[in-house]
Amino acid sequence: MPSEEGVIVGKANIPVVSISRNTPYIVDLTVDEADIPLQFDEPGFLQSVHIEGSLSAMQQDFLFQGTLTGLFERTCDRCLVPTSMETSVEVGWLFELGTPMDAMEEFAKSEESEEEEEFEDSDESEQIQYYDGVNIDFSKAIAEEISMATPTKIYCAETCKGLCPQCGVNLNTTTCNCTPEPEIEETNSGFAGLKELFPDLPDKPSEE
Ligand SMILES: [Zn+2]
Ligand SMILES: [Zn+2]
Repeated sequence: MPSEEGVIVGKANIPVVSISRNTPYIVDLTVDEADIPLQFDEPGFLQSVHIEGSLSAMQQDFLFQGTLTGLFERTCDRCLVPTSMETSVEVGWLFELGTPMDAMEEFAKSEESEEEEEFEDSDESEQIQYYDGVNIDFSKAIAEEISMATPTKIYCAETCKGLCPQCGVNLNTTTCNCTPEPEIEETNSGFAGLKELFPDLPDKPSEE
């Protein structure tokens, strides 16, 4: 396969030659945010990624099973104090020799011969990744996993009281004399209004 701009070897690479065929290779790797092909709207939000687990040779494929931990840093979404948060997910990646292109061709072939069911029935507990025969490159797999595991909100603590909506003090550290605004009653919510207009609506909004 012709290389486009030379082979870029990131820090999330493990050379295939260093992996024994008989004993699992222990992976304990901290990857800098800059080495992961992932764009965040907020620079510096993702600080680093750590992967820990074992990489086993399976004929010409390699199976990684372990944990991915992302460290995120930004200000608390309630009180605006700088805070960090770790997110961990269990991952299973099966690195197959080849490129996603090869897999698409194979899939096309299986469609022609109407064997797609067999294709879909393959074990879904592991995500298929690809390697070039030289390095196991985790960066793409990490990027895919991180894009799903990224928290949308970050709190300094689950119990964070946030800022007073009236005077703006941090209610975790300061008390103020503002009167809390009356809470909007559940029955006056827009959904109850809808129910009057459309009596056939189910009682509970379905969570989609
Ligand atoms: Zn907070
Ligand atoms: Zn206040």
